[in-house]
Amino acid sequence: GDAPGTFRRLEGDLHRIKNVEFVDQNPIGKSTRSNPATYLKAFDEIRKLYASTQGAKQMGYTASDFSFNSDGGRCEECKGDGYITIEMQFMADITVPCESCHGKRYQKEILEVEYRGKNIYDILEMTIDQAIEFFSESDGSQEKRIVKRLRPLSDVGLGYIKIGQNSSSLSGGENQRVKLASFFADEKAEPTLYIFDEPTTGLHFHDIATLMKSFDRLISLGHTVLIIEHNMDVIKCADHIIDIGPEGGDAGGNLVATGTPEEITVCETSYTGKFLKDKL
Ligand SMILES: [Zn+2]
Repeated sequence: GDAPGTFRRLEGDLHRIKNVEFVDQNPIGKSTRSNPATYLKAFDEIRKLYASTQGAKQMGYTASDFSFNSDGGRCEECKGDGYITIEMQFMADITVPCESCHGKRYQKEILEVEYRGKNIYDILEMTIDQAIEFFSESDGSQEKRIVKRLRPLSDVGLGYIKIGQNSSSLSGGENQRVKLASFFADEKAEPTLYIFDEPTTGLHFHDIATLMKSFDRLISLGHTVLIIEHNMDVIKCADHIIDIGPEGGDAGGNLVATGTPEEITVCETSYTGKFLKDKL
C-alpha cells in the first residue's frame, strides 16, 4: 500500500484491538470455483450431510466425492465447473455448457444420491434463503450446522445469491459483504478493527439499512468499525466522525472537524456538517 504519513504517536484504548482487517471489494478466494457457500464453509457441511445419506453409504461415497473442487465425484470433463472455456485467439474467451454433465458439474452416479428428494446439484441451484428454509425443515444436528453457516450470508442481505454461484460473478460490494458475513461466522474472533472502504457503493437504500445492522452487530461483539464513506445515511450513524477536506483531491486531505454528528453540524467550515444537518 501507500507509505503511511509521519506520526509522533498512536494513543487511545489500544488494548481493545488485537487485529486489523481491511475489508475491500476484491474477489473472495483465488479459485475460479470458489463461491460464498465454500467461503463460509457451509458447503463442507452440506457435503458431509450427503455423505451420511443411505444412498451415499451404499456406494461408499465420502464427503470429498461431493466436492466440485477435487477429483472423485465431479465431472472429469469440465473439472466441476459445469462449463468449458474456449480460448479465442483475437477475442475474449467464451464459455459453453459442458457436454458431458450438461452443466450439472458432477458425474451421473453422484447426482443419483438424494437427500429429501434433492441431489447435490439441486442444492447448488438454490438461493441462500431457499437453502436455509429447506434445511430448517429438519431438526437434525447436521442440518442445524448448515443453517448456522448460511445464516450470516442472509443477515448481510445476500440471501438472493445461489449456493453454487461463482464468486467471479459477484459485484465488488457483494464480495465485501461475503467477507463481512464470514466475520459473523467466527464468534470467537479477538477484538478487531474492521476498515471498510465505501461499503455502500451501488447499494439500494434498503440494503444500506441491512448493512448498518450488520455493523451494529460487529460492534456489539466487541469489535471496532472504521468506515471511509461519503453517504450521509451512514455518516449520521457514526459515534465519531473524522471529516477530511475541505475539498476533494489536492484541495483536501486536511482535518476539518472531528466529533459526534451533532458536533460536526456546528462546524462552519465543514461541508459534511452542512449536509448532515438535514439528516439529523
Ligand atoms: Zn462437466
